Amino acid sequence: MELTDGSRIAVIGGGPAGSFFSYYALEYARRFGLDLELDIFEAKDFTKIGSSGCNHCGGIVSESLVQELAADGLVIPSEIIQRGINTYTMHTEQGKRSIHAPTDEHRIAAVFRGSGPRGCLDKSLKGFDNYLLGLCQEKGAKLIPEKVTLLERTENGVMVGCSKSDMRKYDLVIGAVGLNINALELFKGICPSYSLPEVTRAYISEFIMKPGDIVRSLGSSMHVFLLDLPQITFGALIPKYNYITLVLLGKDIDKDIVQNFINSHQVRSCFPEDFPVKRALPCQCYPYINIKQGNNAYADRVVLIGDSASSKLYKNGIGAAFITAKAAASPAVFEGISKRHFEKYYKPICRDLDSDNWVGKWIFRVTRIIQKSAVLKRGLLYQVGKEQAKEHSTLRMSSALWDTFTGSAGYRNIFRRFLHPGLLFGLIRSTLTSNLSINNRHTHEKQEARQTL
Ligand SMILES: Cc1cc2nc3c(=O)[nH]c(=O)nc-3n(C[C@H](O)[C@H](O)[C@H](O)COP(=O)(O)OP(=O)(O)OC[C@H]3O[C@@H](n4cnc5c(N)ncnc54)[C@H](O)[C@@H]3O)c2cc1C
Repeated sequence: MELTDGSRIAVIGGGPAGSFFSYYALEYARRFGLDLELDIFEAKDFTKIGSSGCNHCGGIVSESLVQELAADGLVIPSEIIQRGINTYTMHTEQGKRSIHAPTDEHRIAAVFRGSGPRGCLDKSLKGFDNYLLGLCQEKGAKLIPEKVTLLERTENGVMVGCSKSDMRKYDLVIGAVGLNINALELFKGICPSYSLPEVTRAYISEFIMKPGDIVRSLGSSMHVFLLDLPQITFGALIPKYNYITLVLLGKDIDKDIVQNFINSHQVRSCFPEDFPVKRALPCQCYPYINIKQGNNAYADRVVLIGDSASSKLYKNGIGAAFITAKAAASPAVFEGISKRHFEKYYKPICRDLDSDNWVGKWIFRVTRIIQKSAVLKRGLLYQVGKEQAKEHSTLRMSSALWDTFTGSAGYRNIFRRFLHPGLLFGLIRSTLTSNLSINNRHTHEKQEARQTL
């Protein structure tokens, strides 16, 4: 079972996973001298404003992905980038600290996936997903702007059906439908041992604001919140050009959890004093996020990629889409398209992401303990503050936190760095120093109050 000249590939879903697969499959085929026909089926129109043209996401493209794309000659054009992020500001009830990029080359891009939030009047905005689709079309992919409603196996191929056009036969079908449950169920029919990924509800909203106000309030910093609020694993404000994106990740985020977060003093203080935070939400949604990978995401002539298969827990889902897409494109073009080929060359990549996520789960458990403890948060702030203030500091804690927030490094790598004796010793010392000094200050204040009385 191999692709030969004239073989036909159907990519179902034109989000990052579908586009990255198409781009690399066509590029590998060109190098191999193989003439392929590749159709991308995409139900959404990414030129539309609001949710009908958007794949709901915070829009952070990690520095590792920016660099990997650049290494392959894909430089994200400046008109796609809404803002370059160069620092992370960590907020807790005990104070805040800014963490600068460990080296000057590291840059993170904040983008819109679609062409702008609901109510957006600027029709010239260009989204990330549309940019990637354009690259694939330049490489020869054909875009079919339809929703796939039927997949059926035949003896030597797979039939793909849409509501508006006739069924077509393909040699290979790629499942890049994200977490669309109906579409994933279609794949179960042609990939019987596949089990769907586990999901939970997250939250995104967009606040429109004057660019100057955004610079004054948030700067070019992504603001992350380590607050003791139930069910929130990660909360962030991401500055775009004239929008601020609010992202909440955790367990089954709902309206009350969102309100609790927005009403907290730490979040409120990131907005100008007179900004009507509660009334300023023209665009908000509760999309699913992948929290456990789907299993056996391949069969003869079929492979699922991106969120539909394996992602990265809470971070860098676009980066994981890139990894899985490239990992599926290479065996499809160079080796073969049978279940055995995908098992040998694709499965190890998914397994690697999965075991990294397992470590990630432990990191988030520890983060949850820190979130609940004022004593530990004081120590953390003190340690980061000390590292950031010193010119040639080793930045152990800052760089481990930077990679945790940005999702640029794997969780195993981050975990190893958190276990470094220098980091642990520094944190213990900072926790003791910061908490003793606050105790002394309280005692002193009490004595002064008593004397005044
Ligand atoms: C709240 C939240 C914030 C996030 N923030 C970030 C972030 O800042 N950075 C980051 O890297 N990741 C982030 N992610 C994760 C990221 O959005 C996903 O990992 C990424 O979009 C996965 O890409 P994909 O191509 O697999 O799926 P998707 O982006 O979901 O694309 C799937 C595509 O398939 C199409 N489709 C579905 N069914 C059909 C059908 N039957 N026929 C035709 N087309 C179909 C859909 O229209 C869609 O365009 C976030 C996720 C959430 C929920």
